[in-house]
Amino acid sequence: MICTQHELRSGPTSGAVRVRYPPSPTGAQHIGNVRTAILNWLFAKKMGGRFIVRLEDTDRDPSRYRADVIPDILSNLRYLGIEPDEDWEKGGPAGPYIQSERLYLYQNAARELIESGKAYRCYCTPERIAALRAEQQQRGEPTGYDRHCRYLSDSELEKLKAQPFVVRLAVPLEGQTLYHDEVHGDISVENSALDDQVLLKSNGWPTYHLANVVDDHSMGITHVIRGEDWLPSTPKHVLLYQAFGWETPKWTHAPLILGTDHKKLSKRHGDTEFAEYIRKGYLPEALMNFLALLGWSSGEDRELYSVEELIDRFSLEGITPHPAIFDANKLIWMNGEYIRKSSPETIIELSIPYLRKSGLIKTEEDVELAKRVIPLVTDRMKTLDEVVSLTDFFFGDMPKYDPKAVEKWLNSSDSKTILAKILPRLKGIAEEPFTVHLIEAAVRGGIDEMGIPSPQVIHPLRVALTGRMVGPGLFETMAAMGKAKVLSRLKAIIAKEH
Ligand code: GLU
Repeated sequence: MICTQHELRSGPTSGAVRVRYPPSPTGAQHIGNVRTAILNWLFAKKMGGRFIVRLEDTDRDPSRYRADVIPDILSNLRYLGIEPDEDWEKGGPAGPYIQSERLYLYQNAARELIESGKAYRCYCTPERIAALRAEQQQRGEPTGYDRHCRYLSDSELEKLKAQPFVVRLAVPLEGQTLYHDEVHGDISVENSALDDQVLLKSNGWPTYHLANVVDDHSMGITHVIRGEDWLPSTPKHVLLYQAFGWETPKWTHAPLILGTDHKKLSKRHGDTEFAEYIRKGYLPEALMNFLALLGWSSGEDRELYSVEELIDRFSLEGITPHPAIFDANKLIWMNGEYIRKSSPETIIELSIPYLRKSGLIKTEEDVELAKRVIPLVTDRMKTLDEVVSLTDFFFGDMPKYDPKAVEKWLNSSDSKTILAKILPRLKGIAEEPFTVHLIEAAVRGGIDEMGIPSPQVIHPLRVALTGRMVGPGLFETMAAMGKAKVLSRLKAIIAKEH
């Protein structure tokens, strides 16, 4: 069901905030898109308003349109804990929320503008437009439509009636378009600098500008919060609102996001695709916190905010005019902070899928092992995917041996003799409980008996059991590994000919 514009427009005047996030499926969501979604959602939450997600899929140029990225849009938001109030899956009073299902609305709107003389049919062929552009470029003039069809006589129009046409906005020839942006202040643009933009293409599909304005109005959007790259489009939108006689929403343009070198954000600065951060195991809380601070500030001298604190402090005044700097190292740091703030159970639950995917967890026994070992490495994890490299040596029969570690601590007959002395002491401990305390007592007993410095026992033992020189505490590692695996690994190393 389509709500009448009047019904939804009564929302804003009655004070209910309605904001929107309208992605175009032209590529995977990047950091900047999600930052914008977060700012809108925080504002809706703060104001007790509604957060609407709408799909702007009217650009069907095969080189840009990507149906495959659509399912990720809502699931990426859900990963962050953002549940839209209205979207194309759950619907809502202003649906449909997919522009390709609303074409009749844009066509009706374009017709309404033609009838009121605010827009006109343009029959110029693409060839004429291209030739015009080439001439303008040759003369060094700004390119734009020369308004040829704006002044066609009725008889000329009658002759062209059956020809394909686009609909263009009849931009006022004089005066200025004025609007206020919450971040950039009052802005005025000379109308003479604006082109008679195309609103409806010859195939009956709208351009972004028409569809965006018609939807923002008919969906009762009170505040448009979007990236600064849309600032130059805003006068065109304001003119459209004026042409329809509609009240404009409040405009807020959040700053661009740049890399640490102050250049446009690109792969060089780290991943720009949002889902990559989910795949790598960044926690939702860390991503929410980090992205909210890209262009917004509470004014306090701090970096870590829970989502409740972000909502509590959020205001449009906090959106900064200067560019936001994307610092991947700060995100890594923040993620580590959130990992350590999380409960061990949460980290175990979130880490197990990474171990499964890497093939380390194959059996239920491996799951139990994972539950014991993940807490040992949580302190050193900055992203969840690191769980794989931090714990891989626990799984399987034998670990991968680092040749340098073997060379240094396992290759001498001495080290094997030492391990052979420790082995029976470990065997003497019961299978259950195989505790840190009992293991330490057994190993220390061996050290005392041999009368050698403890590193000469500890290092070979660690390398024999884990294949490497560094890792969590040795006795904790052995307890988590379990008696059977500790003994079988030691036996294998002692028996091995070098
Ligand atoms: N569909 C546009 C985009 O992909 C929306 C811009 C706007 O917020 O008006 O970013």
